[in-house]
Amino acid sequence: MPLVPVSVLLKEAAAEGYAVGAFNCNNMEIVQAIVAAAEAEKAPVIMQASQGAIKYAGVDYIAAMVRVAARGARVPVALHLDHGTSFDQVVRCLVAGFSSVMIDGSHLPLEQNIALTRQVVSAARPVGVSVEAELGRIGGVEDDIAVTDREAFFTDPDEARYFVEQTGVDSLAVAIGTAHGRYKGEPRLDFDRLSRIKELVSVPLVLHGASGVPDEAIREAIGRGVRKINIDTNIREAFVGAARRKLDENPQEIDPRKILGPAREAAIEVIREKMRVFGCSGKVRG
Ligand SMILES: [Zn+2]
Repeated sequence: MPLVPVSVLLKEAAAEGYAVGAFNCNNMEIVQAIVAAAEAEKAPVIMQASQGAIKYAGVDYIAAMVRVAARGARVPVALHLDHGTSFDQVVRCLVAGFSSVMIDGSHLPLEQNIALTRQVVSAARPVGVSVEAELGRIGGVEDDIAVTDREAFFTDPDEARYFVEQTGVDSLAVAIGTAHGRYKGEPRLDFDRLSRIKELVSVPLVLHGASGVPDEAIREAIGRGVRKINIDTNIREAFVGAARRKLDENPQEIDPRKILGPAREAAIEVIREKMRVFGCSGKVRG
């Protein structure tokens, strides 16, 4: 199947009340794990390239790997840029064949965030690529992007409505108490704020930093309008954990396939578990 825009997947998710998982693809094994999990669960899936993945593998390698994975897949696959940093980077991803992009202007003053997001929408929409933006600041560390607790702040519902009206974005990432990376304690999500944003905003909402959020809180967030959920840290933990166990068992091993193969299997399992929690399992018929 050709790559599908995220907006198409989220529209179906909104109609049926579930969320689609967006998983960071950092290397070939993880790309294969994401597709294998989606096929096993009969779930639509979003693969996303973080800033760190782009630095590590390059936009063209990621796009080529995901296109190959999608071509042979029996489920719809989207390729999405995560936390796009500039208009230029978005254009590079459009040229490379991404089906969706995020532009993250959340560090900018509101009107500048609006101007940048509008510019991206005007480039992406004519070529059928959907756009996610962020309002409020999600805390934590993800690859090159670090937001301290002092810099993080929650999304203002009225501002969210204004932002979506002004930009015409397809989906909106909200800051309601999740953070990128590992949590120190249990995260507490501001569900009232989420519901208020949902009331005022017409587009699907996106939850970043969902690794480590308890399943019950995830389900609650989906019930209140979240349609895309980003997972990275849980995959890293499963992947590297399995590779480490393999090396501990056999420190003499020199075949990378015997280390990365089990890591890939561990990633498949954790992704499948997430898909069941998100409610997207079994949504691809036929
Ligand atoms: Zn994020």
